[in-house]
Amino acid sequence: MVTEEIPFLDLQGAYQELADELDAAAKRVLRSGWYILGAEVAAFEQEFAAYCGVNHCIGVGNGLEALSLILHAYGIGKNDEVIVPANTYIASWLAVSHNGATPVPVEPDECTCNINPALVERAITPKTRAIMAVHLYGQTADMDPLNELAARYDLKVIEDAAQAHGALYKGRKAGSLGHAAGFSFYPGKNLGAFGDGGAVLTNDPQLAELVRKLRNYGSTTKYYNEVIGFNSRLDELQAALLRVKLGRLDQWNDRRRKIAVLYQQGLRLTSLVLPTVPAWAEPAWHLYVVRSARRDRLQRRLAEEGINTMIHYPIPAHLQKAYGHMPIPEGSLPLTEKIHDEVLSLPMGPHLSPADQQRIIAAVCAILSEEQG
Ligand SMILES: *Cc1c(COP(=O)(O)O)cnc(C)c1O
Repeated sequence: MVTEEIPFLDLQGAYQELADELDAAAKRVLRSGWYILGAEVAAFEQEFAAYCGVNHCIGVGNGLEALSLILHAYGIGKNDEVIVPANTYIASWLAVSHNGATPVPVEPDECTCNINPALVERAITPKTRAIMAVHLYGQTADMDPLNELAARYDLKVIEDAAQAHGALYKGRKAGSLGHAAGFSFYPGKNLGAFGDGGAVLTNDPQLAELVRKLRNYGSTTKYYNEVIGFNSRLDELQAALLRVKLGRLDQWNDRRRKIAVLYQQGLRLTSLVLPTVPAWAEPAWHLYVVRSARRDRLQRRLAEEGINTMIHYPIPAHLQKAYGHMPIPEGSLPLTEKIHDEVLSLPMGPHLSPADQQRIIAAVCAILSEEQG
């Protein structure tokens, strides 16, 4: 018997559902003869800013550069420290390092896996300039206490919203919860392009103006360069395709929500630790992450059943070779290290069929009960 493979994320299904509109949008750009910083990028910036409830959106090359440009524009660099979650994707740290500043990791809350606001204050030093709040797996960090600390210590709060398009915190959208936010449109994100892309969102008009220059060689008028800029631009083709997908974001996030509810119901009697959703959170369910002390075996057994899972993430940033120069030895961020040993992301996305999801739930339950027996 050949069992059908269940992909971790079905990007072909996403294309198929919108193929006519996407093809038309691509054709419109290809025929226009204008490919960089034109009407499509301007329209997408307006539409995504409105969606997130902020005044300014600047399309940039990718999520990492969005975060990097925000820090650069705030003048955060050498001899500065930025508080980052210990438990995050490494890009949150890299943006800090690229600017010459030092990432200062803070352990997560055991239940949400996001930064624990109660531990942030003791990490603040006279060198601290900002707090990077990452909305990991699509659930916002607890922003009120972070914003309160930032106000008290005169720090910037920068959201890494790369996994949180459409997520809500107390009814407000991710991207509108700090001084500025960086989004990624990497294909696998909830709002994914067909290549790389990113955006900076902010209500700060000065920051918006500076990032707008920085992304384009430091220039707003061609060949007049006001600051030492970069080349980091969302392109017309990606912007046109993203406009089509933005129209479906809420509907597709709704499907993710329903899938999350079915996982919670179907897996609640197993030994797995399931995601915790605080009352104030409405996650975008970028990932559905469970925890198990026997994670590697579960992943291997699921793979034998044709069920593709992923680990977000296998190695924490402080134990990566890239950060080998930092004085953070193994064992110093124990909760983060434990989470990295236990997490497993089950297939999740708007094109996961009910039948496939039932197969996943049944397989997980069977594997875990054979372990107990
Ligand atoms: C994807 C991601 C990024 C980086 O986005 P790119 O567009 O791939 O550069 C940053 N932070 C988090 C949390 C991410 O998931």
